[in-house]
Amino acid sequence: MDSQTWQNWARCADARPTRYATPSTVTELSTEIGRAAAEGLQVKCVGAGHSFTPIAATDGVMISLDNLQGIESVVPTTEPSGALVTVFAGTRLHALNPALWDLGLAMANLGDIDAQSIAGAISTGTHGTGARFGGIAHQVRALQLVLADGTVVDCSDEENPELFHAARIGLGAIGVIAKVTLQCVDAFLMRAVEAPGLLSETLAGLDEHVAGTDHFEFYWFPHTDRVLTKHNTRLPADRAVDPVHPVRAFVEDELLSNVLFDGINRVATAIPSAIPSINGFTARALSRREYVNRSFEVFASPRRVRFREMEYAVPAEAVSDTLREIDRWLNKSDVTVAFPVEVRFAAADDVWMSTANGRDTAYIAVHQYHRRDHREYFDAVEAIARGVDGRPHWGKLHSRTADDLRPSYRHFDAFVSVRDKYDPARLFDNAYLRQVLG
Ligand SMILES: Cc1cc2nc3c(=O)[nH]c(=O)nc-3n(C[C@H](O)[C@H](O)[C@H](O)COP(=O)(O)OP(=O)(O)OC[C@H]3O[C@@H](n4cnc5c(N)ncnc54)[C@H](O)[C@@H]3O)c2cc1C
Repeated sequence: MDSQTWQNWARCADARPTRYATPSTVTELSTEIGRAAAEGLQVKCVGAGHSFTPIAATDGVMISLDNLQGIESVVPTTEPSGALVTVFAGTRLHALNPALWDLGLAMANLGDIDAQSIAGAISTGTHGTGARFGGIAHQVRALQLVLADGTVVDCSDEENPELFHAARIGLGAIGVIAKVTLQCVDAFLMRAVEAPGLLSETLAGLDEHVAGTDHFEFYWFPHTDRVLTKHNTRLPADRAVDPVHPVRAFVEDELLSNVLFDGINRVATAIPSAIPSINGFTARALSRREYVNRSFEVFASPRRVRFREMEYAVPAEAVSDTLREIDRWLNKSDVTVAFPVEVRFAAADDVWMSTANGRDTAYIAVHQYHRRDHREYFDAVEAIARGVDGRPHWGKLHSRTADDLRPSYRHFDAFVSVRDKYDPARLFDNAYLRQVLG
C-alpha cells in the first residue's frame, strides 16, 4: 500500500481507498467502523493481501489490523491436549507459529505459506493437507466481531451460534473479526519425506498415500507423468530435529525453488514451446530428501516467484479422474504451464462456507506465472472441476457467481440470511462479494 493505492501480493487486484485506518484497540476499530458508516463509506478489512481475488478491495475505508496483533490469552485443555489460544485478528501466522511453539503449542494444520493474518486466512477458508484434518477455520472455537453497527459481539458454538457458523469462513461479509480463539494442540515435530515419482503410480496408490500419511500432498509437472510427493508424519516434540543442511536448504529451497524457478519462468515466457521439455528436465533433476523439523517450519515455505492461482475443491473420490481430464485437455491444447499442479487433501467439515463442507475433499491448485496469461488454462480447469461439483477457493481466481455457487453449499442461504440480518445496509460489501453472494 502506498499513500493512495493498495495492491494484492499477486498484483492482480488493486484499490484506491478513500481512507486507510490502522486501529490499535478493539474500541478504535469499532469507532472507525461507526465513522465510516456515518460518512456513507463502505469498509473492508485487509490482512496480508495474499488473496488472488479482489475480496479485500474497497474504495471506501480499508482497515488493516497490523496494530492489533499478538496472543491475548492461553487456557489449557485436555480434550484434545493443548490450549484455547485467543489472538488478535491481525496476527500474522509467521509471528503466531513461533510464539505458540514457545508455549509448547502448535496449530494442528497449516497451509504452505505463513504470510497471512489469522483473520484473513480463516475468512477465505485457507487450508493445508491431511485427510484427517480440517483447514484453519476448523481450528477456530470462538470469535469476537465488530458488526456493521459498531457493536462488539462474541460468538461460538454456544453463544450466537448462527453468527459463529457464518463468520468462521465469513468472506469479510459478516463483520470485522477482532479476536480469534483457536484450539491449539501440543507442539509437534514433523518428518518430511519428499521424493520424485510418477503420476500414474501415485494415482494408482493414492488411497494408501492419503490414508496412511498424516499430511500427504503431491506436485504434478504438467506435460509429463512426473510428480514430487510429500509425506509428512507427525512426531512428538521431544524428538531431535534433523533439518535440511543449511547449504542444501539454500540451494534447493531458495536457489532452485525461487531464484532458478523465476529464471525458468522468464525463459518459458519468451519460449513457451520449451516448457514441456523444461518440466521433464526439472522433474527428473529432483532427488529424494528427508528431514525432521518443527511442524510449522515443515508446513510452510517461502514463495518468492509471483504467480496467479486457481484452486478447486473436488470430492476426494473424483481427484484422479479430474487430473486425468486436465492432462487430456493440456495434451490437446496449445497452452503450456511451467508451474506444477498442487494436489492436497482434507477431511469433511461442518463450517458453512468451507470448500470441504460435508465431504472428504481433494484440492487441485493450478498456477500460472504472473507475466503469462492464465485465463484459457484456468477456464478449462474450472469447466472440468465444475463437472464434479468442484468448489472454488474463495481467495483464489475463479469466475463463479452466487447463482451457480448456491447449489454447491447446503448453508448458502443461511449464510446470506445472517449477512442480511447483521449487515442490512451492506457496509462490508464490494464487487467480489456481489459476484459470489449476489
Ligand atoms: C503465495 C501464496 C500461497 C498461498 N497458500 C495457500 C495455501 O496453502 N492454502 C490456502 O488455502 N490458501 C493459500 N493461499 C491463499 C491465502 O491463504 C488466502 O487468500 C488468505 O485469505 C490470505 O490471507 P490474508 O491475511 O492475506 O487476507 P486478505 O487477502 O488480505 O483478505 C482475505 C479476506 O479476509 C478478510 N479479512 C481480513 N481480515 C479480516 C478481519 N479482521 N475480519 C474480517 N475479515 C477479514 C478480507 O476482507 C478479505 O475478505 C495462498 C496465497 C498466496 C499468495
